[in-house]
Amino acid sequence: MLPQGMYIHIPFCQSKCQYCDFYSEPLSEHQWLEDYTAGLVVEIQQRALCCDKREISTVYFGGGTPSLLNPGQAERIINAVNEHFCLDSQAEITMEANPGSLDKIKISGYRQAGVNRISLGAQSFDDQELKMLGRRHQRSEIFTTVEELVRKGINNYNLDLMYGLPGQSVSKWEDNLDQALKLEPAHLSCYLLQLDEGTPMGQKVKSGKITLLDEDDEAEMYNLAIDKCTRAGLTQYELSNFSRPDYSCRHNLLYWRSHKYIGIGAGAVSYIADKRFKNSNDWQAYISNLKQNKLPPVEELEHMNANDKLAEIMIMGLRLCEGVNLQQTFDRCAVDVGEHFKMAIQYGMDRGWLEIKSGNLCMTRMAYFISNQVLCLFTA
Ligand code: SF4
Repeated sequence: MLPQGMYIHIPFCQSKCQYCDFYSEPLSEHQWLEDYTAGLVVEIQQRALCCDKREISTVYFGGGTPSLLNPGQAERIINAVNEHFCLDSQAEITMEANPGSLDKIKISGYRQAGVNRISLGAQSFDDQELKMLGRRHQRSEIFTTVEELVRKGINNYNLDLMYGLPGQSVSKWEDNLDQALKLEPAHLSCYLLQLDEGTPMGQKVKSGKITLLDEDDEAEMYNLAIDKCTRAGLTQYELSNFSRPDYSCRHNLLYWRSHKYIGIGAGAVSYIADKRFKNSNDWQAYISNLKQNKLPPVEELEHMNANDKLAEIMIMGLRLCEGVNLQQTFDRCAVDVGEHFKMAIQYGMDRGWLEIKSGNLCMTRMAYFISNQVLCLFTA
């Protein structure tokens, strides 16, 4: 049976980062979290009633800043998943956290609640870069948080890093990578800064106050990350993700393998029965609906036909270094991918972007940095 995950969205942050275009709201009253938690518990209960498949193998608390939840709130949510769904006893339960928002009491409490993986939004080890990004933490807090995680027995932690920051040199990025790798994380994610025009940083770029790096520098930084992570014993398993053996993020693998997931919370997206739909973003309406035992309004984002599904499997699956297994895709969709995408595959192979290895179609390393161009070949 294919695994299924649950994503739980916590839409609150202490303040808004300069580059952020995620749905999140500055938290000004702690009571909001209490009311929101109560809403999540009711949504979990209600959603279970209309789900054919209740097995859950991964739970991911994302945001926003989920580590604003206190351990009691996290426990109530996980208990609700356990009570109303069949939560695997070996489930991966991840909590995204900001350095500085976790202390030892919180870490112990989360652990007791069942959280067994922490994804830490480190972003940079340079205080000036952190300030430019509008992050609230300082470099030193990344170290103290990691020390505390390890002391409390959470060895399965991820560090998120960003590269391609305005003014960042390749050697500065290298220094960031070195400091991250010295901490020996089980998992490292390296993302290129992407700016939406609506964000304060995006506005500064538009008005010429700051300048983004050129593509050659970005490519050099990306390739440096691959080389350094590999030398440090982290295997690249996805375009932006590296891990020690057995520490790939099982929840994110569900997305890349186009498996089902249930999104809980305001603004959370679900993918069930070939439909992708999203709960309304309005967290206040979310709370008041669930107080009356009503599910929040949803917006259908996509209803996939067979071609859309196949395109999705290719576009998501090719992000993984293992690529897409042709036989498994045939078993799942009854379509011969080699035939269906014959022209696209040939075009990619002729340019050295794609290859077939042990029955899997994958991108070659030279194509990783220009992956968007390659993935476009497979749009439905
Ligand atoms: S902590 Fe994350 S979600 Fe919150 S504002 Fe910053 S980038 Fe956005």
